[in-house]
Order: sequence, then C-alpha cells, then structure tokens
Amino acid sequence: MLKKKIQDLMTEPGCATNQAKSASERKKGCGKQLVPGAAAGGCAFDGAKIALQPITDVVHLVHGPIACEGNSWDTRNTGTTGPELYRRGFTTDLSNMDIINGGEKKLYKAIRRVIDKHHPPAVFVYQTCVSALIGDDIVAVCRAATERMGTPVIPVEAPGFVGSKNLGNRLAGEALIDFVIGTREPTDAGPTDINILGEYNVAGEMDLVRDLLARLGIRLRTAITGDARYNDVAAAHTARANMVVCSQALVTLARKMKERWGIPFFEGSFYGISDTSEALRAIAGMLVERGADAVLLTRTETLIAEEEAKTWAAMEPYKARLAGKRVLLYTGGVKSWSVIHALQEMGMEVVGTSVRKSTEADKEKALDRLGGDEDKLVDAIAPKDMYQMFKDGRADIMLSGGRSQFVALKAKTPWLDINQERHHQYAGYDGMLELVRQIDLALSNPIWSQIRKPAPWEIEE
Ligand code: SF4
Repeated sequence: MLKKKIQDLMTEPGCATNQAKSASERKKGCGKQLVPGAAAGGCAFDGAKIALQPITDVVHLVHGPIACEGNSWDTRNTGTTGPELYRRGFTTDLSNMDIINGGEKKLYKAIRRVIDKHHPPAVFVYQTCVSALIGDDIVAVCRAATERMGTPVIPVEAPGFVGSKNLGNRLAGEALIDFVIGTREPTDAGPTDINILGEYNVAGEMDLVRDLLARLGIRLRTAITGDARYNDVAAAHTARANMVVCSQALVTLARKMKERWGIPFFEGSFYGISDTSEALRAIAGMLVERGADAVLLTRTETLIAEEEAKTWAAMEPYKARLAGKRVLLYTGGVKSWSVIHALQEMGMEVVGTSVRKSTEADKEKALDRLGGDEDKLVDAIAPKDMYQMFKDGRADIMLSGGRSQFVALKAKTPWLDINQERHHQYAGYDGMLELVRQIDLALSNPIWSQIRKPAPWEIEE
C-alpha cells in the first residue's frame, strides 16, 4: 500500500509540471535518485513529523529508536497560541529485543499510556526505518487502539528510507486525508471559512495573517498545520476555499480536498507586500464565488489600500539604505521565489536563488521574477565557491537557513536566518516590514567594519 501511495504521489495530476510532461516522461515519476548525504536535509519520517508536529494539542509518538525522535524533535520554531503538548517528545524507544520480538505490543502499550496520562484529542504514530523493517503493522495497531480506547490514533507511514523530507511532507498529507479530515462536523461552519495548507506558523507569524483575515471577516478554520487543533483539522472539509502556501508539500492534499469536497484552491504567498495583497484578493474572490457576500471584495480592496500605504510609508527610510544591495538567497521551496519579490520591492538585487529543493513550478516562478536570467538559479553551491563569492564581494548579504550561515560569517559577510529556526515573523505587511528591518540591522551592524579591519598584530609598524 505504501509503495502504491508513493507511486501516486510521484505522478500528481494537480502539479502543472507533471501535466506538461509527455506520457512516457510522466510514467517515470518526479522522484529523484537519492545520493549519499541526501538525508542530511531530513529523511521522509522527518518530513512527515515536520508537517504534522505543529498540530499543538495531540501526542506525536515516534515508533522507533530514540535517535529518530532526537533527530526531529523541536528543531523548528513553530509557535502556538494555546496547547503545548506538541512540544513534548514521545517515543517507543525500540531496542535490540524489540527488533527480535517485534514492537507492536510496546507501541500499543505506549499509546494507552499517553492517552491515560495526557487525554489528547488524538495520537499521531510515526513509522520509522527500524519499525518498518521489522514489519510492525502500525496501521493495524492504530486501528485496534482507536477502537478500544475511543481516541483517534493516526498512523503516519513515512519511514525514513522511502525517500526525502519532501516526500515525507506529502505522506503526512496522505495521513490527514485518509484518517483525519472529514471526521468532524463543526456546528459553526460559515461562508467565509478558509484553510491555509503548508503553513507551519514559524516564529508564530500566523498571528499577522490571522489578524488581516479577521479584519476582513474571514475565519481561518485551520492552517495545515501551523498552530492547529486536531478538531479543526478534522473539520477542514467544511472550509469554502484553500490557499496552498508550500505547493511542493501539500498540493496533493489540496487536489484531493477539491475532488472530495469541492473546495477550490490556489497557490499564494504571504511574503512580500504585493504577494500578500494578491493572496487576500484571491481568497476574497474565491469566497464570493462560493456564496459569500460580494461586499467582501470592496472591503478587501480598502484594507489592501490602507495596509500598502502604511507599509510603504514605514519602509521609506529603509529603502534608501537598502536599494542596490545584493542578496544571495540560499533557501528552497516556496521561499526560493516568494522572497525574491519582497526583496525587489525594496530595490535590492537578488544575485542568486537556490532552487535545489524546489519543484519545476517553483523554478519557473523564480525565473520569472529574476527576469528570465537562468544564471541566477543556482543549485547547491559548494562551500568553497560560496566563500569565494563573498570574498569577491559578489553579494552583500546571505539569506538562508542556519546550516550555511558559517560560510558567510567566515567570509565576514552579513547573514540573516529566514528558515524555520528564525525568531522573527516575516508574513504579511507587518512581517515584510520586519524582514526589511532585520536585513538593515544585519547589514549595518558595526561588527562588520570592526572585523574587516586588520587585527593589531597584522599591522606592520
Ligand atoms: S527514520 Fe530512518 S533515516 Fe529517519 S532518522 Fe530514523 S533511522 Fe534515520
């Protein structure tokens, strides 16, 4: 079953790139041959855990050796406005004897224990390499536990060895569509309910988006899965529209929700001023098409005009300082193109964006925003080449995740974290202002002029 599921995910009909392929090319799928070191960016289990862990009120139980949980636990700064249970690490901690005797009984007992102790609305059980290889049937154990304990226990079949982190994200979406979404009927479903898919509430930035939506009278039923509650995810099928933020991860889920419940979806981004405005327009348009009051359209335009004017005015002092600065964007997925626009709006030049983790659709969008300059789409850059790039002064700042920061810092070049470990909110209009403020702070930090000077012992008398 898992093999079939993975094959289906590799030929996703909702993906425009896949549709553009010939029949024989499509048959080959979109999976990439894994190379040594590929899991350094996370295995499939890690991807599934990342995608589901932001559901804040459930127990996330890892069925495997303790190291798998250690690998994935709390590595992302996804915020909550309520329950804290998701921050706890739970694992069955499989050891040698479990590998010989099987770990199903241990898993069942662990499920009972966490339900008795924490009374969660649901338990998510994650398959890992070891439990999959010894043949533990987590689907059967979860089914038995659900029936006997009366709490939904959700199997997440994404053992690390099946592929990349991205595949794990998508398998997490499969777990939600197979076992969660559509299992609760809310009493308060309304004509302006939406879901946001692929949004993980990094640094708590959903607050900024939720506020904009609330001012328009739009209710976020749930994000999948940032700051989500189990019952809201289970009722996500009652929303009137879906916005997909990270298409690479959850487009299959969006497509299946459209087929099953008729929920239309669009891809958008809340990074950058014009992208935020476009996203709000698209949400309002979809809701009105599905029966919401047409006054929503004018309300949306009024809010956009107010917010854009306010944000541009607040950014004016930064614009003068940042215009012309060159940025190397070394991230992936949706950020490989959405952040480009945000930077260009400030008059900054993007000298390169990494598309090593991007889909073909992401690459096309990035290329479009870079004026068709293919040289600026970069794959992985070897650390020594990146170092040389900074040494030669070809970029003034790097925006990336924490892992590549040391190359920039070693070359005495400013660096700003825009990935999951960051502590600043960059979504929406206020988030854009914060991003610009942080870039300005990084560039104008007096440390750079200090450390670029020769050390006292390097100066000849
Ligand atoms: S699931 Fe497999 S690849 Fe992933 S951390 Fe565990 S053992 Fe390693």
